[in-house]
Amino acid sequence: MKKILLKNSNIINNDATVDKNKDIYIENSRIVKIIDTNNFNLCCENVDNNDSCEIIDCSTYYVSPGLVNLHSHAAMNIFKGIAEDVTIDDWFNKEIFPYESKLQPEDIYNGVKLAILEMLNNGVTAFADHYFGQESVLKAAMDSKIRIDLASTIFGLAPNYKEQLQNAKEFISKNRNISSRVNLRLGPHAPYTCPGEILSEIVNTAKELNVGIHLHVSETKEQVDTSLDQTKKTPFEVLYESGGFDINTIVAHGLWVEENDIKYLNDKTYFAFCPKTYMKLAMGEGNIYKYHDRINYSFGTDGGASSNTLNPLEQARLFALNGKFINNDSESFKIKDIWKHLMDGHKALAFNTGEIKEGKDADIIIWDLNRPNTFPIYNPVISILYSSNSENVLYTMIEGEFIKYKGKLTLDEKEVLNNISNVQSSILERGKGKSNVNY
Ligand SMILES: [Zn+2]
Repeated sequence: MKKILLKNSNIINNDATVDKNKDIYIENSRIVKIIDTNNFNLCCENVDNNDSCEIIDCSTYYVSPGLVNLHSHAAMNIFKGIAEDVTIDDWFNKEIFPYESKLQPEDIYNGVKLAILEMLNNGVTAFADHYFGQESVLKAAMDSKIRIDLASTIFGLAPNYKEQLQNAKEFISKNRNISSRVNLRLGPHAPYTCPGEILSEIVNTAKELNVGIHLHVSETKEQVDTSLDQTKKTPFEVLYESGGFDINTIVAHGLWVEENDIKYLNDKTYFAFCPKTYMKLAMGEGNIYKYHDRINYSFGTDGGASSNTLNPLEQARLFALNGKFINNDSESFKIKDIWKHLMDGHKALAFNTGEIKEGKDADIIIWDLNRPNTFPIYNPVISILYSSNSENVLYTMIEGEFIKYKGKLTLDEKEVLNNISNVQSSILERGKGKSNVNY
């Protein structure tokens, strides 16, 4: 049996308060006991043989749940930097979709592995991914031991839509119990690429399979206007009419959510905000900085081709800064609220994680904030949200297993980078193809 004792820990709670001097005892994948340090080493008494228990002195560190990346296209990391300084239309239609049309399963596998290395380094313990080639994405996640909530992307307007839906259905039936680190759902791309009956059919399939959905909604003002022109409904209304709010739904972006849309949202709906993409592709300020208090949300990174980094913490930071700036109110988007929302990513997923509490799975970050960039520490959450980087993530643990240990990833980084070099060469060699979809 695996036993770990995080001695003398300073636990960061989800309301941004800190419980000092706690011993956290982990057995196999779970947090079994948390007690005050010096309370006679009760945790150690639980251990049959102290030698087999790894004890880490956390007295100068802070312990928090891992981070969740609530919206990613991990495989797109192989396109990081390939399409810069372009309009959003050109980014999709002249760059990304044409390149993606020539992707091979092994490109996706390698791209996801690269993304996972970066995420683990940043303390991400779970990510909600949205992509095609789901077999390759799942394999990369399983091989890397990170948690994944995987939505198989379905383009409703593609000629092989029926086949995509059938494949996604079979994929879920086959893999739904494959690991405690895996959750599966359907990923209709967006209401505009899965119009009307198609979206209803996908939602009904999700209901039959008893899974959630994950899709892009109201990303740009143009999308909302076009939807109103064509259907007299906003994308959120279209989703509501398809039954999409009856089930667990991750709404990627929702940047242009309208006041009238908010009544459709409920406690099963979580938005994933990715402000770096909105800034880079000049998608406007949208309405989320206006209505954020009325929405369940956390943070995603989108794909590396639009955000260039995969760190939900950076997105949370940008969200807070943008919010203050746009609303001209430096007292809003407070540290404690942003931290809570960052942790809320766990609530959007079906895993038993997101709190340092007895009975929860041990998905944990140990932060070393005794570095020039984060010191002095008036409040660890301020140091983390506004000053930290991956170097402050000293340990990343998933299900009681260290994936980052004393500042080093336990996975083979060199091999992944070598493979990516080859992928990059073949992407450039193959060039762009003809895309089935239009943004
Ligand atoms: Zn996306």
